[in-house]
Amino acid sequence: MTGIVVLGSTNMDLVTYVEKAPQRGETVTGREFRTIPGGKGANQAIAAARAGGDVLMIGAVGNDAYGTHLRSTLEHSGVDTDDLRTVEGPSGTAHIVVDDEGGNAIVVIPGANGTLDHLSPGDEGVIADADTLLLQLEIPLAAVLAGALAARRHDVRTILTPSPARPLPDELLAAIDLLVPNEHEATTLTGRTDPREAATALLDRVPEVVVTLGASGSLYVTRGAEPLTVPAPKVTAIDSTGAGDTFVGALAVALGEGRPMPDALAWAAAAAALSVQREGATIAMPYRPEIEERYA
Ligand code: ATP
Repeated sequence: MTGIVVLGSTNMDLVTYVEKAPQRGETVTGREFRTIPGGKGANQAIAAARAGGDVLMIGAVGNDAYGTHLRSTLEHSGVDTDDLRTVEGPSGTAHIVVDDEGGNAIVVIPGANGTLDHLSPGDEGVIADADTLLLQLEIPLAAVLAGALAARRHDVRTILTPSPARPLPDELLAAIDLLVPNEHEATTLTGRTDPREAATALLDRVPEVVVTLGASGSLYVTRGAEPLTVPAPKVTAIDSTGAGDTFVGALAVALGEGRPMPDALAWAAAAAALSVQREGATIAMPYRPEIEERYA
């Protein structure tokens, strides 16, 4: 088992399905409403645990019913929640309206995630005991930076998903071993639209980059080697929500087990391909035996 710590967000996604999203001042009747546990931190933690990792999550939920639900969802997938704090106030929520054309509009209220602006006593020890620290950008940047620097001090591999897309300080990127942006995030970080050019430009700031390319797979670059494209298995995609998080969670497990990067990327692609064939983010994430079967 590989030791993975995720420092990141938990959100309850409040999803309304409607034929056409309402305009300002308009009221419409929707078709369906679902509450779906999410947040990129929780998603990656669940993906990694289901892929066979030994996973602990550092994060915060509110002292509301969503907080209880989010915690039990993580525990159900085998994630250690001893360092998931319950704080006064609401849990993070994402208010999502999905229309019949698949378009969406989203309002995120950080809630408890916004309180994570520093590491707590004990967090550094938890990070020091891990092989890998997974980071995203849905909690205050100060905590992401503190986590990355703590990992660096203890020789723990750091993997950052730079989402939501935003420019990042050099100080943070200097503490990252592997950056995993999607195409849009790679463009935001570099100003380049071609993924290969963007990935290569990022090598000035981090030693290894994987750009995820949706159904086209992923592109891996590292200093002093030719770029490597790893295809995604051809599948019929039903819902790609959470594909990126499934990919990163599985990739962290594979790398932690010592698989070489090309194999680890193919294994992560197998996991993500399984997830896009099912609806939802966390509920669609595959368990290890399914990944092994798909990868074989
Ligand atoms: P999301 O925000 O939906 O979680 P993302 O934009 O972060 O996803 P993508 O690049 O869309 O990330 O997808 C991540 C990985 O998931 C891809 O590298 C690929 O391996 C897999 N994937 C995504 N879409 C498909 C698809 N249609 N068929 C097969 N694999 C897919």
